[in-house]
Amino acid sequence: MTPNGRGKRSIPEGLWVQCPQCKATLFRKEAEDRLNVCPECQHHFTVSARERINQLLDPGSFEEWFMEIQPVDPLEFVDRIPYSERIKAEQAKTGMTDAAVLGKGFIRGRPVVLGITDFAFMAGSMGSVVGEKLTRAVEEATRLALPLIFVSGSGGGASMQEGILSLMQMAKISAALARYDQAGGLYISILTDPTMGGVAASFALQGDLTLAEPGAMIGFAGKRTIWNTVRLELPQGFQTSEFLLKHGFIDRIVHRKDLRTEVARIIDYCEH
Ligand SMILES: [Zn+2]
Repeated sequence: MTPNGRGKRSIPEGLWVQCPQCKATLFRKEAEDRLNVCPECQHHFTVSARERINQLLDPGSFEEWFMEIQPVDPLEFVDRIPYSERIKAEQAKTGMTDAAVLGKGFIRGRPVVLGITDFAFMAGSMGSVVGEKLTRAVEEATRLALPLIFVSGSGGGASMQEGILSLMQMAKISAALARYDQAGGLYISILTDPTMGGVAASFALQGDLTLAEPGAMIGFAGKRTIWNTVRLELPQGFQTSEFLLKHGFIDRIVHRKDLRTEVARIIDYCEH
């Protein structure tokens, strides 16, 4: 009872989080201290691009690139609301200009080009800006002869609001990655929950090495879409990291706490 007798004290908003997997109620601070992994069941929560940078890179080493590239609404697309309004709302909500953050930084002293798609901004879907930024990052990594690390967290695949313009980003990035590969570059792709659609069908699964966080949903179309299209019932958990590792689709599952060390180790192994 609270002193004023109005019944059960409510939990201050934001102080606690519930784990979607094991339903444990967690002290937010404790989850954050564990890189936003549930201490009870190891469920990996979605983290923002900014937080991912802090987790992966050496403190203060990140230099962000291409911040001047802004999204536009070339098709004047309207679904429930006009796309131009949706962009503004997402920008206000997240404080980001679009779904991708790109730049250069250091992982345990090793220089890398890092790219991240952030689920918080329109489910991390790939429009013209995300595609352009990622492509330029690949080109910079080629020019500077640096390892390239992309962390994907895109549930939306390609942005339908930009139609063919977003679909062509898949080919554009893939072409840049092919040139990077010919130049001998090392591309490590890290798949996080969720990585779907046109993102999974392009750069996210073109890594020299493909790592995934545990329990991430990774695939092209969702289970319901597959059922509605081809009437095929797929096995339980067929779009999880664990299933994909077993079937050779990804190379390794890495717990978030080990990601930084693993990436540094892979770079050393490949470059020496
Ligand atoms: Zn849990």
